[in-house]
Amino acid sequence: MLHTLNLRLAPDDIAYIVNHAADRFLIVDDVLLPLFERFRHQTKIERVFVVPLTRADRSAEQAHSADGVGDYEDYEAFLRTAEGRFRPPEIREEDPAGMCYTSGTTGRPKGVVYSHRALVIHTLVQAMPDALNISHRDTTTPVVPMFHANGWGIPYVSTLVGAKQVFPGPHLDPESLLDLFVEERVTFTAGVPTIWLGIAQALARSPERWPLHNIRMGVGGAAVPPDLIRTLEQFGCQVMHAWGMTETSPLGSVSVPKRYMTDLSDGELHRLKATQGVAAPFVEMRLMREEGLAPWDGVTMGEVQVRGPWIAGAYHNLPASSDHFTSDGWLRTGDIGTIDEEGYLRITDRMKDLIKSGGEWISSIDLENALMGHPAVAEAAVIAIPDPKWQERPLAVVVVKPGHSVTPEELLGHLAPHFPKWYLPDHVVFVEEIPRTSTGKFMKSALRERFRGMGRP
Ligand code: AMP
Repeated sequence: MLHTLNLRLAPDDIAYIVNHAADRFLIVDDVLLPLFERFRHQTKIERVFVVPLTRADRSAEQAHSADGVGDYEDYEAFLRTAEGRFRPPEIREEDPAGMCYTSGTTGRPKGVVYSHRALVIHTLVQAMPDALNISHRDTTTPVVPMFHANGWGIPYVSTLVGAKQVFPGPHLDPESLLDLFVEERVTFTAGVPTIWLGIAQALARSPERWPLHNIRMGVGGAAVPPDLIRTLEQFGCQVMHAWGMTETSPLGSVSVPKRYMTDLSDGELHRLKATQGVAAPFVEMRLMREEGLAPWDGVTMGEVQVRGPWIAGAYHNLPASSDHFTSDGWLRTGDIGTIDEEGYLRITDRMKDLIKSGGEWISSIDLENALMGHPAVAEAAVIAIPDPKWQERPLAVVVVKPGHSVTPEELLGHLAPHFPKWYLPDHVVFVEEIPRTSTGKFMKSALRERFRGMGRP
């Protein structure tokens, strides 16, 4: 069973995950051995297979660990010890195939186990024309690590259909990625919005340098601002916005306009593409409020709950908790959203990121999307700060594009026509950069911590 480890976590957290999952064998690039050595003594890893990247001339078989705990084995040499024809063991479709841990920023990460059945059905659906539409004609480049929900399944679907696969390795800066897309004629790529924000800025700086012909960009993991979709499309990219989670393998929904939606204006089309889309086949979706099911009217918010053949029904080795799963078998996603009559989901917030002001909910995503529509704004995150009268009030944290300048008043003026007055942030602060989580999303918990003092408890 394959368990991909999140190497961007703190060594203590990785050790916790290794132990919680009862991992026995480690396959690791040699460049990561120093990280492994920092937590090795806390684990019961039995054998370590090293893939030599940096010292091809020196066999890892001979390499000893820094503290002398034990020997490493060379991965290629290990493979060569295989004799005869490989016979796969008898596997039942419900048997576990792999697992990933959630990248939660609060509390311990939780393990999600994927069965063979779940992964196969998920992979088949991903390939469908109205999902990711991946075929053997494609060259795919996931800009998402395998530990983040199996690289969003892209290596699996690419293998199934026989697409060419190109991996970016450690070079994730916009220029290297764009060079790779052009050199390898990549037709499908996917990643979190922060990756594409950087790509859009690089394209805007040198519009001629990277001819991208209709490359399809899957964007997920966090909401994609409509303006980012527009900018990327100007440079020949087709944006496909998808929603999902580690617990949903990860595909939950994809935003594709329906056949009869032909008379949408450009603005309407971008707004539609910026929704999280319609549930993938076999994924059941509902919105739940305290008083029961919410209607699909595009305005009533509720918690998004899902179930289906590749949706987790429990966490690995944790007691069943009604915080995460309902008694009738639905996954509580912790996301708040609306669904319209056409079935398009619009996530307004993560429950813990919602801003609760005077009994009303303020959607941080709506404000962020609008702020990132301002020409001087590179990135924006909106968080709640404590307030004695309203309980919480919004604060906008903004990164200004290089060579631009803008004042808080100008930004508030930009927002004002689109929101009720009480929705507008009380403060706008400018920062050099917004901290990222281990999967590249804005780390709002760190911002809340940093700017708590600006509130009035
Ligand atoms: P993770 O399991 O780390 O990928 O986190 C899953 C969470 O990311 C979801 O519950 C959402 O809060 C968020 N998320 C994923 N995709 C989107 C999206 N397209 N729009 C908004 N939020 C998203």
